[in-house]
Amino acid sequence: MAYDSNNVFAKILRGEIPCKKVYEDEFALAFHDIAPDAPVHVLVVPKIDCVSFDDFSQIASAEFMKEFFSSVQKVAKELGLQENGYRIITNHGPDASQTVHHFHVHILGGKNLGRLLP
Ligand code: AMP
Repeated sequence: MAYDSNNVFAKILRGEIPCKKVYEDEFALAFHDIAPDAPVHVLVVPKIDCVSFDDFSQIASAEFMKEFFSSVQKVAKELGLQENGYRIITNHGPDASQTVHHFHVHILGGKNLGRLLP
């Protein structure tokens, strides 16, 4: 799938639509999910045009990948999730029910999340 710069996260990154920001650096923007699936549900979005993890892993430089995942860890820490734990999820493609086609990592926590899938 080709990257479409009209996706909602690209618009958030450009400041065209608002978000509840929790963190931003040179590599990533993190904000609260509009329809949370856990008491804490934050999305971390890289500042690079890529559709999903599959795309990101091919396009991004090793340095960018390192910095991006470091940002994910910083966000989880700043959210106070380190001690009790958290889950990170990223969806690629239809079988994973990906709905926004700009790569993003979900950080979920704030309660015991149980097993991986219901
Ligand atoms: P995915 O299904 O992995 O593509 O996840 C997309 C996520 O983006 C869903 O959890 C949505 O609730 C969330 N979402 C969609 N639009 C917005 C928005 N404008 N602000 C924050 N989160 C959003």
